[in-house]
Amino acid sequence: MTTDTSATTEVGSYFISNYPPFSQWKNDYVPSALEALNQEPDASIPLGLYMHIPFCRKRCKFCYFRVYTQQNAKTIEKYVQSLEREFAILADKPGVRGRDLDFAYFGGGTPSYLSSKQLRSLRDRLTEHLSWETAREVTFECEPGTLNEDKVKTLKEIGVTRVSLGVENFNDTILEANGRAHLSPEVLKAYDWIQNAGFPQVNIDLIAGMIGETDENWRECYEKAAEMQPDNITIYQMELPHNTIISQEMKELGVTSPIANWETKRRWVDEAMNYLAEYGYHASSGNELIRNPETDRFIYRDNLFRGSDILATGVSSFGHFQGVHYQNLDKIDEYMDTIATGVLPVNRALVPTDHQRLIREFVLQMKEGKVSLPPLQEKFGVDIRAEFSDALSNQQSAGYLKVEDDRVTLTRKGLLQVDSLLTEYFEPQHRSVRYT
Ligand code: SF4
Repeated sequence: MTTDTSATTEVGSYFISNYPPFSQWKNDYVPSALEALNQEPDASIPLGLYMHIPFCRKRCKFCYFRVYTQQNAKTIEKYVQSLEREFAILADKPGVRGRDLDFAYFGGGTPSYLSSKQLRSLRDRLTEHLSWETAREVTFECEPGTLNEDKVKTLKEIGVTRVSLGVENFNDTILEANGRAHLSPEVLKAYDWIQNAGFPQVNIDLIAGMIGETDENWRECYEKAAEMQPDNITIYQMELPHNTIISQEMKELGVTSPIANWETKRRWVDEAMNYLAEYGYHASSGNELIRNPETDRFIYRDNLFRGSDILATGVSSFGHFQGVHYQNLDKIDEYMDTIATGVLPVNRALVPTDHQRLIREFVLQMKEGKVSLPPLQEKFGVDIRAEFSDALSNQQSAGYLKVEDDRVTLTRKGLLQVDSLLTEYFEPQHRSVRYT
């Protein structure tokens, strides 16, 4: 093993996915989210859907999502009923009524934990209220060991256009050490079924820095990914938010971090990007590589980063509607009980100011490696280079990015650690608060 593990990856969030920080969203602002749903929509803004399916076979040691393991068909049926009721209420809101879905994302948890029968039933029941047939992209997250050939065909049948397969690593010892439920033979079988079914877009996820990762094994991972030739490859750098099993063991038992340091993880991603470039892949963000920039899109991400309306459905899911951030209740029983009374299960919300929306869209687009300034300047009526002059100038001097008249372009060094650069653009009161 040649990896330097002497320095640690500490407990705390690294990945930035929204602004202002989630810790600032409050229950007091829930009426604003409900009000936004009751307002007539702006027809120029696309509408999307995020649906959270919180079931998994097993809890991975690095997981920080709201998940429930080993749930039976009865609980799943009750949950699908709640989703249907939530859908019915949402579809009838003035802000949603009569609009078509432009994109949808089924995340988790493990959406593919549902059986073929449950998936068809979900599609049939939800379509009565709001259909994703109009959507340009329907992404569905899959855990390899939950798939079978019939289920993959069902995904195609219910309209999934983009399958995202959570591979994470190809080494069984590493998968087991990190608490993953699947092993590599299941990845290969699942990938064949997915290829045979012929989805327009297939993504595989990898994580740089799982417990036990080494230089040699990581190289084998990206070589294998290149051989498989998916349309997209997403590479996350392992982080340790507060609620992971690993973080809890570190905090409660004094265990030292078992994760490689940030410098090592960045080097691993850099090596993977270089290698995959030889196979025709292009970085479309600090995490995502695509094979064909002409055809390979991630419509959900593009809309999320540009302030489109996204309806949150399911326990603990996050939405953004007519300028308001919101999140649903994050315990499954509370979520289902609230829906049963006919009330939307929104738990906390925030109404960002125009300046905060500008920061949000700017920093999220930084994650794509380049920000085109004219659209943002037109949308928010500000001179971006003047607005963020200190941070841009500091980061340009440090070699993280280049500022030109109409764009900001990150260097490879900047892209590999983009999330660590973004707090400098936050309003001062949000720079040192806890992120989640
Ligand atoms: S499969 Fe995904 S959502 Fe489920 S426990 Fe593992 S990391 Fe969490």
